[in-house]
Amino acid sequence: MHKVLRRVFKPLENSILLVHSPEIKEMPLEIVFEIMSYLQPADLISLSRTSRRMREVLLSKSSRLVWRTSLSNVRGLPACPIDMAEPQFVNLIFGQNCQFCGKSGVKDIYWTCRARCCSNCVKSQCVCHLTWDDSPF
Ligand SMILES: [Zn+2]
Repeated sequence: MHKVLRRVFKPLENSILLVHSPEIKEMPLEIVFEIMSYLQPADLISLSRTSRRMREVLLSKSSRLVWRTSLSNVRGLPACPIDMAEPQFVNLIFGQNCQFCGKSGVKDIYWTCRARCCSNCVKSQCVCHLTWDDSPF
């Protein structure tokens, strides 16, 4: 990895350093986006949670190419569905919390609901478990 990139990525281990780094604040946004596009999608989610400003930048439409490039670097990943924004898709795939109650360590993704959901919430939040016997017709 290039020396400059290593200097920028190294603080990712301690994101607060990156957010408050004067080099990043003075860097043109195009260059920051270029650097971010080398990050793994899950790292982009983590980075977006480091500060209000970083969230604003990474969740803006202008950063869409960053997400797309980052996603394209992951082999075998299905394409982002057209009805989802890339950050939502990344959160669905790489997140670990139930999207309803926040329980951690949840591995089940319900693709029809586009939700990562724990076993308790799937019963209370999802209607995709109806069977023909439950149908009113
Ligand atoms: Zn839950």
